[in-house]
This record gives sequence, structure tokens and C-alpha cells, in this order.
Amino acid sequence: MASLQLQRQNYRALGQSGRRFLLHVPTTAMFELDKAADSVLELLEETGAVSEQQVRGRFDGIFSPDEVCDSLSDFLALGIISAKRKDYEITPREIKHFPINTLVLTLTTGCNLGCTYCYREDLTPPRDAVVMEDATARRALDMLLRESTGHEQVNVVFFGGEPTMRFSSIHALVAYAEEEAEKLGKKVDFSLTTNASLLTDEMIAFFQSHRFGISVSMDGDEETHDRYRITIGGKGTHKQVSKNVRRLLAGCTSRPVGARVTLSGGNTDVVHIYRHLHDELGFSEVGFAPATASNDSPLGLDGVEMRAVLDAMKALGLEYTAAAKRGFRHGFSNMNQLMQDLFSGTRKALPCGAGVGLLAVSAEGQLALCHRFTGTSFPSFGDVNVGIAEKDLSAFLTEAQRLHPACQECSARSICAGGCYHEAYVREGSALSPTFSHCDFVREWLDFGIECFGEIMRANPGFFAVQNKAQELHGDQQ
Ligand code: SF4
Ligand code: SF4
Repeated sequence: MASLQLQRQNYRALGQSGRRFLLHVPTTAMFELDKAADSVLELLEETGAVSEQQVRGRFDGIFSPDEVCDSLSDFLALGIISAKRKDYEITPREIKHFPINTLVLTLTTGCNLGCTYCYREDLTPPRDAVVMEDATARRALDMLLRESTGHEQVNVVFFGGEPTMRFSSIHALVAYAEEEAEKLGKKVDFSLTTNASLLTDEMIAFFQSHRFGISVSMDGDEETHDRYRITIGGKGTHKQVSKNVRRLLAGCTSRPVGARVTLSGGNTDVVHIYRHLHDELGFSEVGFAPATASNDSPLGLDGVEMRAVLDAMKALGLEYTAAAKRGFRHGFSNMNQLMQDLFSGTRKALPCGAGVGLLAVSAEGQLALCHRFTGTSFPSFGDVNVGIAEKDLSAFLTEAQRLHPACQECSARSICAGGCYHEAYVREGSALSPTFSHCDFVREWLDFGIECFGEIMRANPGFFAVQNKAQELHGDQQ
């Protein structure tokens, strides 16, 4: 038989020798390697290529011929070994129909805060804000209901600037969306991303009665939060925001409320931030993302800081793993997302739902790929009057499915698929470029996740199925 070559681009095996879990990269399926498979793989990793006869000879008397044969057949079927290079290319599919189910409405470009790191190009102080006319918002909602073919539920996300500055519009639009959806036998789910500085009891009661999914932008304790999240006049906002958050968490109990932390220069202590937001304030989930900044901006994280963030995320991830082994859900949402991806076998042809299931509407009614592209010079894809520019969107998405040669070799490709278009647009100058500055981070985080996933599966095999069920029931955010 011809020599069998190891196809390193198609798997990642992690864990202690003899107890390794294998990620099949093209499908994100996870397998626990039995002793024979682990040893066969070790041999292949040492040699790179080996004949079937050599494998049999090496393990003669150690494993039965059937065990060796089964391992080789499984590796062959998965494309982890083959006689010549084996790639699983995703052939770009022309997307012709766009049944969107989520629409993000930029109710205003104005924000009452002046956070130093804000990525929005069109952000203005409240007095200069461009606000979305209610007629524009209603046309957007009509479009969502019309274009959501095949979806019984649609999602409306109120966004800004600071969307609570337009609370009376939110009130009216919720009523309109619910009424129109009912005529079509559909349900509408509402979400809001807020800085929480303007929340009133009336708003909280309204969000609770309409089961809003709420995500609060907050960066940690007073010292950390007030470094960047300041008023337009330059004052810290933690005191006001944390007071409001306590009322929000007491009043909005219909769904979990999450915090979203922006990590930026000098602000990287993930564990400490989590303690404050989850343990002290009581957020149900806390998610972390590095600030979006061009590669030379001081607001972004440098290499040393990215290292510190990754180490801290791993420390929190170990806490998550220990809790999961005992059957408890931990509130670290980055880890929840990664475990979910590994459990469900996520296989992305595109990095996210932007342009496929999700579109954003700018304050003027232009359709953007997602909330981060509204108000940028990146081309829009239609507007609420003429509808989706299907040809342009189709061309963009077809191009986005072509994996860069570097991504084709990458163990994270089925989970990352090239990374966020907006990060790439800001950092690399093209929405269609891979976000190369994050690759090492993404791969190391995935490796860590594979090891944790294996540990959890061994100690508590039913954990992720139970979590999935709970998530479906409660409609968790993040
Ligand atoms: S962008 Fe980087 S991490 Fe993502 S798939 Fe491509 S090479 Fe891998
Ligand atoms: S392009 Fe980036 S910011 Fe926009 S939805 Fe995708 S991942 Fe999120």
C-alpha cells in the first residue's frame, strides 16, 4: 500500500497523551481518541508519512489488528491521513435570496457619552445627532417582516448612539412591530444595547414586559470603567451606570441581562472585571472583546496586552471548566460561545451572519452589513425604500466565502472563517481580508477550548446538552 501522509491541516489533537480529544477541522466535530487511535496518530505525527504495513508492525502485540485497522480507517475517512494532500474546500455558493431574520435599527447617531475608544465614525453629541424618523423605522420593520421568508420569529435590535435617548420611538415601534407581525402570524423578539446611563423605571418596566434581551456596555469597576467610559464633558460614569444596572437587574428578570466589556490599552484584567460585573453587580453573563482600533492606534491592545488578555481569559476559562464539571453554568460568555461552537459542530462558510440573516439600518435608512458598518464609507446594500440590493450583496458574500490560502491551512478556519469584516475593514483596509492580527490569539484560544471541552465531556458528558436546552428555554443573550 502507498505511504499514508498525515494531513495536519485537517485536525487538531489536544490533551494529555493517551487521553486526547481530536477536533476534525473541516466539520468541527470532536472525537475522543482511544488508546490505539492515539498511538497511531502519535506515530504519524513523528514520521509525517507511514505505510499501513509499518503501522501494523509497530503495534503488533500491543493492539489487535482490528484496533489498528479501525483507527486507520477512521483517519482515512476523516481525511486526517491520505495518499495525497486532502483538502475540504468550501465551494463558494452564490446566495440569491436573503431571508433576513434580524434587523438592527440605528435609532440615533447621538450618544450622551463620549467614550474615548468608540469605533463609530458617525457618532455625534446628542444635539448634532441624526435620528431615524419613525416612518423610516416602520418601513424597515415592514421590510424585515416581508423579507423574513421561512422565519416564524424575527429579531429587532435597537441600537445607536444611545438608543434609550429615543425611548418614545422604541415604545411606538414595539407596538407597531408586534401588531404587524401578528397579522402575518409571526413573533418579534426585541433586543437593546445600551450604556445604561439614562435608564428610568418606566423603561425598565417596559423592557421587562416585552422580554427585551439587554446587553449593557460596561468595562469593570469604577477605576477601570471610568478610564474610557466618560461623559462628553469628561466625567466618569461608573457611579450612575452601576446604580442603574442594579435597578435594571432587579426589574428585568424575564431574560438574562449581559454585560459587554471593551478591552483597550491599559484595561486588560479580565478576571478582576468579571468579578465586579458578575459577582458584585450580578450580570448573568459577561463577554469581552478588544477595542476595534487601527493597528497603530494607542487605544488598541499591543502584543504584550493581548498576551495578558489571553492568559486571563484562560484563567477564567479554567473556572468555567471546573464549574461545568460540577454541572454549573458559568457566566463567561466567550467560553460559553466557544464550547457551544465545539458542541454543535459549527462549520462556518462565512464569519458571521452579517448580510445573510442580519442587516443593519442607518439612521437615514441605508442598509449596512451589520451595525458596525452604518455611518462608514463602506458601500451600503440598498435602503428601506428600494429594499435589499441583492446583486451587490450576493457578490460580496460569494467573495467572502473564498478562503485565503493562509486560512485554508488554519486549524481555526471552521470557527473563524477569516474573522470579522469590520475588524478587517478597520485594521487591514478591506472587509474581505482575513484579520491576521488576531490569528495567533484565535488559534491559541481554540486549542485551550478543545482541552477544556475534552475535560468537561469526560467528567460530565451531559453538560452541554442540558445547557443547550436551558438556553433555548430562556432565550439567553450573547
Ligand atoms: S483569519 Fe487567521 S485565525 Fe481566522 S481562519 Fe484565517 S488564518 Fe485562521
Ligand atoms: S462583521 Fe463583525 S461586528 Fe459585524 S456582525 Fe460580523 S462579526 Fe459582528
